[in-house]
Amino acid sequence: MSHLVGFRFAEVLLPRPLANGFTYEIPTELSPHIRIGTRVLVQFGPRKIYSAIVIRLHNNAPDNYEPKQILEVLGPVIDDVRNLQFWQWMAEYYMCTPGEVMNVALPSRLKLESETQLQCLIEEEYWDENLEAEDREILTITRNSPETTLNDLVKQYGTAAAKRAKKLVDIGVLGIKESIKYHSLEKWIKVVHINAHKKKEIEAILHPKTKAKAQQNIVLAYYQLQAEGHLFITREMLLNRSTSTIAALDALVRKNILEIREIKESALFSRSGVQAAKLTEAQQEAYEKILKTFAENKIALLHGITSSGKTELYVHLMKEIEKSGGQCLMLVPEIALTTQLINRLRHFFGERVSLYHSRMTDRERSDVWESVRKNDPGSQLVVGARSAIFLPFSNLKLIIIDEEHDSSYRQDAPNPRYQGRDSAIYLATLFGAHVLLGTATPSVESYFNTLQGKYGLIELHQRYEGLQLPEVHLINIREEKKKNRMKGNFSQTLIEAIDDALRRKKQTIIFQNRRGYSPKLICEDCGTVQMCDRCDISLTIHKAVHRLKCHYCGREKSIPPACVVCGSIHLKMLGAGTEQIEDELSSLFPGARIERLDLDTAQSKKRYNKMLTDMESGQIDILVGTQMVTKGLNFTKVEVVGVVNADNLLYFPEYRAHERAFQLLEQVAGRSGRSGQVGKVFIQTYNTGHPVLTFVKTHDYKAFYEWQSQERKTFLYPPFVRMIHLMLRHKDLKLLQKASIELTSMLKSVSEILVIGPEFPPVNRVNNYYRMGIFLKIPRNKSYLKTKRQIWSVCLDFFTHPEYKTVKFFFEVDA
Ligand SMILES: [Zn+2]
Ligand SMILES: [Zn+2]
Repeated sequence: MSHLVGFRFAEVLLPRPLANGFTYEIPTELSPHIRIGTRVLVQFGPRKIYSAIVIRLHNNAPDNYEPKQILEVLGPVIDDVRNLQFWQWMAEYYMCTPGEVMNVALPSRLKLESETQLQCLIEEEYWDENLEAEDREILTITRNSPETTLNDLVKQYGTAAAKRAKKLVDIGVLGIKESIKYHSLEKWIKVVHINAHKKKEIEAILHPKTKAKAQQNIVLAYYQLQAEGHLFITREMLLNRSTSTIAALDALVRKNILEIREIKESALFSRSGVQAAKLTEAQQEAYEKILKTFAENKIALLHGITSSGKTELYVHLMKEIEKSGGQCLMLVPEIALTTQLINRLRHFFGERVSLYHSRMTDRERSDVWESVRKNDPGSQLVVGARSAIFLPFSNLKLIIIDEEHDSSYRQDAPNPRYQGRDSAIYLATLFGAHVLLGTATPSVESYFNTLQGKYGLIELHQRYEGLQLPEVHLINIREEKKKNRMKGNFSQTLIEAIDDALRRKKQTIIFQNRRGYSPKLICEDCGTVQMCDRCDISLTIHKAVHRLKCHYCGREKSIPPACVVCGSIHLKMLGAGTEQIEDELSSLFPGARIERLDLDTAQSKKRYNKMLTDMESGQIDILVGTQMVTKGLNFTKVEVVGVVNADNLLYFPEYRAHERAFQLLEQVAGRSGRSGQVGKVFIQTYNTGHPVLTFVKTHDYKAFYEWQSQERKTFLYPPFVRMIHLMLRHKDLKLLQKASIELTSMLKSVSEILVIGPEFPPVNRVNNYYRMGIFLKIPRNKSYLKTKRQIWSVCLDFFTHPEYKTVKFFFEVDA
């Protein structure tokens, strides 16, 4: 880090899609406070003010424009220049601009700009007495007119007001308005205490001849858990252990024998005296192999089947990093779905684990940002979603990427459209950090890399405590129909299995990869399907809220009573979503407790958490859901898993569809049989002979890989070539087609690349924009970077052409 003073100019990065940084003059009085990584306030364009980041200091005046002066210094935001190098790399690799990377990298609190709306958070009577008159004035304005933007303040009071506003934001009096607010404040948990003064009553309950057996079981469970060293005992733990009902527990509470107290969730973890479990022989062997792979400076791919104890290995590695004082980043696909994993980590590391993801408030995120930048001990271990790769690390030693195959590591929109796993691997090389990829179903790319010798492969094929892999049964829907053995969407075989599980108080998970009630509403008389006005896709029926919803643009309307074209009232639903499956289950199994987990029900964090705890404590018999149920959940009582229809996974027009289908089905199968009993998986399909299903049936990853890699080699898909998807968008279909065809032929001039298209994507209009895609395949022996630069320059030429200026475009690299 340069502490040199005396530079005249600073090149800054603006949070805008600009190809280059901009140079500003450094006023002498600000000079001592400006270094690389400092956040400064600058004017860009005629009026707008942005907070920008200094990326270079120099003495060369730009020759094509008169540089403006830096207005204010807002303080350091990045200390280690490698983080900025990472942004630059990402912009170049994923074919976008560093400003776009900066925009997703920084928490919005660190992005203060003209249009930022400010909000006074605290009542006047509680304002700090030491606030200066100008501060009070700013607070008064923002309190009286909640729409006040930073720009308004600067107009009225000059640029010094921006600095004041930033200070007020930092001390928490002033807030930045966020469009979405998630309330992820401290969670309170109910814990149970036994009332030692009720000795007589307790003795009575423990008497062998007591009539209150259920209550006795709870008290016994309490003592057992206490003896096992649990500091805090929750209601769920008691119910789980005793298999008694809530009613029994409530009775004890009414008698004052048990007391319920509320404590902060973090208190559960703050006394983390928990020792990591001793590794089994197989785990120990894997652990040593990982270390050996690291010693060879290779990336380690841990291929461990579900329930083989990958988390234990992560914990052991993290402990080592913690001891050494380094930083460790653990990436998980969707943090909202990893509550269980995080709870386990918190048991080992207490409050020393920091979380970082988009569901946190901006305040929480910027706090983690600051604490990582300062390398505080509390954020040595960060568990985060893909955006955590942008945190300002300075001493990064290890990156663990759990479920490395998961598609949610990819950011689809907006730019940068990046693959979080691959970016993390580059980040690691910048820091000389080790990388561990963990998964039960490796991505084809990662497994390919092990075969090439680029990654080390560590296999863990023994399930924890000798658990067996689930039995997979394929059910042919066509034959079942012929035999009249289908009730709605359920085959008799699956119904019997669920029934059997219910009877033995075991749980069932039913997977259907579509939310809503039904994906299509069709008129039986004229055949009209209700479509979205703005997208080329049918509207999904959401019966519970009586709405038709577009899953692409989010628009919705009420369900029409009659066909909008011919007026017929014979409207019929085609296909089933999770809502309908839930309905069918309730009528098939009237007494069962059924819950649904999908995007619609998981919106509320509270409801989601309740679903998890209810599932853990056995309050739910059948859980229905989309792929959300396949991820990271670990419930010991699940014995049956049903896949309502595997075919829409298998016949998706995308070269990764088979890989995704295999991964999803293996993952969902792995939810069953996690304690003792062998799990049973029932996959309903019209295509029992499909290769993917036969590999799932035998849990044979290697055979799947062989088959899949052969296909990709034959049809030239990654990893055998590099592939870039270029997408064009416009409201005018004719113009879009013309542009796409012309650009395609221009791209053919780039040597040795294969240009495919232009073609419409499966949904060719979204939100009134038509879309066309061009696929570019690049041989692996050709310089990727150079080719990308050539493609980029062809595109820049093309899109600056007056006719095509309005056509929007973006790249999906390694699509
Ligand atoms: Zn009609
Ligand atoms: Zn739509």
